[in-house]
Amino acid sequence: MRGIPRFAGELITPGSRRYDRARRVWNAAVDRYPVLIARARSTADVAAAIRYAREEGLALSVRGGGHSTAGLAVADGALMLDLSAMKAVRVNAPARVAVAAPGLTWGELDVATQAHGLATTGATVGSVGVAGMTLGGGTGRLDRLIGLACDNLIDAKVVTADGQVLKASEHPDLLWALRGGGGNLGVVTSLRYRLHPVSSAFVGFLAYPFDRAADMLRAYAQFSEKAPDRLALYAALETAPALPYIPESLRGQRFAALLALCFGPADDHAERILSGLRALLPPPAVDIAGPMSYLQTQQLSEGMAPEGLSHYDTGEWLGLLDDEAIDALVNAVASAPTRESVIVVKRMGGAAARVPAGETAFWYRHAAHKLDVQVEWVSGEPDVHREWVRSTCQAVSHASAGGSYVNFMGDGEGTDRVRAAYGGNYERLAQVKAAYDPGNFFHLNHNITPAGASRLTSSL
Ligand SMILES: Cc1cc2nc3c(=O)[nH]c(=O)nc-3n(C[C@H](O)[C@H](O)[C@H](O)COP(=O)(O)OP(=O)(O)OC[C@H]3O[C@@H](n4cnc5c(N)ncnc54)[C@H](O)[C@@H]3O)c2cc1C
Repeated sequence: MRGIPRFAGELITPGSRRYDRARRVWNAAVDRYPVLIARARSTADVAAAIRYAREEGLALSVRGGGHSTAGLAVADGALMLDLSAMKAVRVNAPARVAVAAPGLTWGELDVATQAHGLATTGATVGSVGVAGMTLGGGTGRLDRLIGLACDNLIDAKVVTADGQVLKASEHPDLLWALRGGGGNLGVVTSLRYRLHPVSSAFVGFLAYPFDRAADMLRAYAQFSEKAPDRLALYAALETAPALPYIPESLRGQRFAALLALCFGPADDHAERILSGLRALLPPPAVDIAGPMSYLQTQQLSEGMAPEGLSHYDTGEWLGLLDDEAIDALVNAVASAPTRESVIVVKRMGGAAARVPAGETAFWYRHAAHKLDVQVEWVSGEPDVHREWVRSTCQAVSHASAGGSYVNFMGDGEGTDRVRAAYGGNYERLAQVKAAYDPGNFFHLNHNITPAGASRLTSSL
């Protein structure tokens, strides 16, 4: 294979020593072989790779942090445009703005912004890429306080399918679509974020034996209805890790846990919020509470998402969490095929829900909760795991707010479910897609068919 004209980054071909490592993504179940990996160093490299792929008739996949569980970053026979070496970050603290290159991870951006006591909503695991997460909407511990990641995206540099470099703020329809439309519009080579003063939280972790799971979810649902914006609240049903703060009797057993993070000072108000939650529940088996820095809160899930395991997950936006849904979730975890099967429910609302519906392409502002259903495995039958995830979502379909989350969709979910993930914004997104990518060159994503085109491709 000849080189890519005007491409100054690194080219990795099959047979090269670096190929096998470079084609790998976070989800070990994804084992695909691109014909070429182009590791870009600049916007000019990105434009050169796009032009080359078009001329050669190659499909193009885009890799940022490599955390899409569907494995969108890599495809058999495609050119993999790898942005992971583009790591520049600039923080303008007085203006409360950060400009991030697309190879940055949330852990890296958090460190850069926290040096100034500032933050923007980031993923709950530091190795997730900033661009992929933001383009899909971007939920995080701060979304009730300051909105989703995409709400804080104020500008972006985008290379379109014809190799043009656009400043998104000069194209309002493009900026609108980038804020929730996934990787459909072009390759983003720079993201400009609004920052907010956030540096600490009062954090509580309460855990219960599994026979209390339904009671705990009921208390979570009741309490979260009136939660203030400064509170981020998660409920999980999973297997208790062997960590020092988990009693021996719970370790390795299924258990139910609540994580409450009250951002701002560890004041009386924060303590009262946590006490209000405790008051709804019997005494927990684990009850830990105390102040943390924002960076510590962002590291709470480190180690819970190790690389190198096989994963499948999907999500559902929930309009409510009633007794029927709670029983379905508890029963699903009780009968899960592996102990590494996890259900996490996160309270939505707050600032993210107050952004007017038409302002961004992200649709599910009305959802009360975000449900993630995840399974990881080292060995065993993948279809059994996938079926468990899907049937768990189906079991709560009466409570659905209408669809899944672009950032948490598995592979092979089908075009109807992909369409539902963009909700009532799909038609407008299809119009913008037709304006910037009429031939659907960027189709290795949760794909939006350009308006006026027949379905050229489906999601992977
Ligand atoms: C452990 C873990 C924790 C997570 N936590 C959260 C969370 O807290 N909140 C949340 O919202 N999501 C979360 N996610 C989901 C995550 O946001 C999505 O999977 C996202 O797509 C990952 O982005 P990435 O760059 O790491 O992935 P990649 O696999 O590199 O990219 C996925 C796709 O995003 C698009 N994309 C990426 N970069 C660009 C770019 N520069 N220009 C155009 N398109 C691009 C492309 O279509 C690409 O194929 C998590 C995922 C995992 C595995």
